[in-house]
Amino acid sequence: MLTALTSDGKQVVLTRQLSLTSLREWRKNESFHCPQCKEPVLLKVGDIIIPHFAHLKQTTCRDSFSEGESPTHLLGKIQLYELFSHLQLPTEIEPYLPDIRQRPDLLVTWQKDKIPIEFQCSTIPIAHILERNAGYHSVNMNPIWIVLTPPTVQDSLAFVLTHRFTQFQQHFIRHIHSSAKETLSVFLTYNPSKQQFHYLSHFIHLRGTAFAMCHSVMRIKHQTIPFAIPATPSTKDIEELTRQYQSARRKYLRSVIGYNQRGIHHRFLRACYEMRVQPVQLPGWIGVPTIGEEAFTESDCEWQLLLIAAIRQTRTTAFQLNRSFLHSFIKTFEGDSSRQLEACQNYVDFLREQRIDIYRLDKLMGRDFVLEILSGRFLAMHARN
Ligand SMILES: [Zn+2]
Repeated sequence: MLTALTSDGKQVVLTRQLSLTSLREWRKNESFHCPQCKEPVLLKVGDIIIPHFAHLKQTTCRDSFSEGESPTHLLGKIQLYELFSHLQLPTEIEPYLPDIRQRPDLLVTWQKDKIPIEFQCSTIPIAHILERNAGYHSVNMNPIWIVLTPPTVQDSLAFVLTHRFTQFQQHFIRHIHSSAKETLSVFLTYNPSKQQFHYLSHFIHLRGTAFAMCHSVMRIKHQTIPFAIPATPSTKDIEELTRQYQSARRKYLRSVIGYNQRGIHHRFLRACYEMRVQPVQLPGWIGVPTIGEEAFTESDCEWQLLLIAAIRQTRTTAFQLNRSFLHSFIKTFEGDSSRQLEACQNYVDFLREQRIDIYRLDKLMGRDFVLEILSGRFLAMHARN
């Protein structure tokens, strides 16, 4: 912990303005106490870990104060504290909120709101996060969680990259509604060793937990309140997102042939066979980014081809579909069915807008719909009305 009470009851925060020598001198003739349990705490001043307080004895207080804090967590917390103080916002460090018996890393007062800030470095059970959020919501506070930048992202200089989200990370993706249909999703991370925020945004689902996305970096000294949101991707970024999406699509279509050779039953391959089309020769309108597509773990070409096959079996066109048809179609997939339904509807809308004849798989083979779709999507997302 970074805060304690002195013998005369004053609260101290170990900011980095205090030199190690002065702290070592200070602790010789001062005693410190835990702000919560009032038991004595030790001021630890080492050369590697930043100065912090630790309980002298085993106490039950330790749990709520999480003394197993890593050096990275302590460092990030103090840097964020300095950021908010620098922005002239009243900020409390490790304050205890008795009503909900929680202790956020920071509590920032912005306008009339108190905003808990949590800097999350370790992977903890999602149930614990939900519990803490429920606590904050019960006292009308909306917490902001900032996650430690994942190692693969930390070292990347790319503006567009492919990243696999763990379940834990997925939980911290914030969805900002920017227009009726479009949502800007942002994964905000912070890297204390380089003192910069790494933003991941504009996700395009590839397959499973893999997404292509934009990556941008902001030095802590440029951060503002409310937190800055990522800018519109440039034409170059959209081209690169398209390239990564197409490359994942081709990779999937090439790999799927391997299932056949190993004699594995695969409904995608069977549908290709029945429609007399080679997976690698699918037209450009099968396997396109669709809003809500991440509700499927399958690659877009897989669920979209299966949908085309199912529509063809009814001997109708995509223009004559009803909702109950889509309902029974998604029953064969695992996942969030209401979001899958939305993705199917969006794909059908795309077929309709492009006037695609789903009985002619040999048409529009080489056309790149992906670039068109992504350009349109990101323009709409950032359009101000
Ligand atoms: Zn204590």
